[in-house]
Amino acid sequence: MRKVYLMTPGPTPVPDRVRRVESQEIIHHRTKEHSAIFGRVSENLRPIFKTENPVLTFTSSGTGAMEGAVANMLSAGDKALVPIAGKFSERWAEICKAYGVKVIPVEVEWGNIAEPPVVKEYLDKDPDIKALLVPLCETSTGTIFPIQEYGEIVREKAGTILVVDAISGLGACDIRNDEWGVDICVSGSQKGLMLPPGLAFASVSNKAWEFAEQSNLPKYYFDWKKARKSWEKADTPYTPAVSLILALDESLKMLNEEGIDKVLARHSMLADATRTAAGALELELLSKYPANSVTAIRVPDGIDGIELKNTLDKKYGVKVAGGQAHLKGKIFRIAHLGYMDKFDVITAISAVELTLKNLGYPVELGNGVRAMEEMFLK
Ligand SMILES: *Cc1c(COP(=O)(O)O)cnc(C)c1O
Repeated sequence: MRKVYLMTPGPTPVPDRVRRVESQEIIHHRTKEHSAIFGRVSENLRPIFKTENPVLTFTSSGTGAMEGAVANMLSAGDKALVPIAGKFSERWAEICKAYGVKVIPVEVEWGNIAEPPVVKEYLDKDPDIKALLVPLCETSTGTIFPIQEYGEIVREKAGTILVVDAISGLGACDIRNDEWGVDICVSGSQKGLMLPPGLAFASVSNKAWEFAEQSNLPKYYFDWKKARKSWEKADTPYTPAVSLILALDESLKMLNEEGIDKVLARHSMLADATRTAAGALELELLSKYPANSVTAIRVPDGIDGIELKNTLDKKYGVKVAGGQAHLKGKIFRIAHLGYMDKFDVITAISAVELTLKNLGYPVELGNGVRAMEEMFLK
């Protein structure tokens, strides 16, 4: 027998309650029954996004909503300010390039953020910059970005919108879209929302809808104005992933039963415990601003990071993520994202202790787990 513990920052574990609903018989999407469910999920997404704006739902992975944000808001030759601070902030730049949008990169060391005064300076200098494209949680480095501060800056600029990739952040790291002045917030189903992959979301502000009127980039499947027209009738332009919509209905019930702020507090506690355990094992974090979705830990000297990740998986069934690009083999990432509680992170840290011991690293067994347990007692 082999039991597997999925501790990656997406896909994340799906609760039984949600999987049972997902396996129900398919219903047709042009029916009152589907419309009632789609209308309900559209409403129930709002408290999670902390917005009164429409939250559109698309059948695609999260990147589909990132691409849609660029294609619907910008025009060929427009300028976009993009901090390059990891794999996913890089993706914003790649999408812009694919659409002929000029990227103004802000180079940032991986594990760090684009400091708000730096962002402000760029925007003050060049009023032609149409969008600031950032992640909430940069998953490749486990870093939280200061969205509230960016919002204060961008709110003052009539010609600029703030677009946030909260694919791994939503439901784990606080994002108050309306209060903070976020214009577009995109997310995906397979992370904090506790669903299988296959749905993408975007909340869109009034300011952003005005940008959509000006946009001349090509779009078809991800035409947000078309999506909004259908959304107003609790419908979608094309066949949605019906089973995932049913499952979303259930996962949103779970999240709203717990209450979004309690969900965020749970993630904060699990992240804090994971960081504390890493400290107790004298392991170093990569990020200067660690996020509550995922913790990126440096592989200690003398240990092969690929072997560490493989041992965690093969010997203990604990699936963590490795490093991407130049961080491959240099870090490992433990997610505490979505359907997670205390014993999930205890399991992960216990497996890390055992694995390090197996690989001959001088680790005191139980130090990480003890540090977590002491925290949980308080
Ligand atoms: C997972 C992730 C993505 C990619 O989402 P897909 O669903 O794989 O398209 C984008 N951005 C961030 C920050 C992510 O964590």
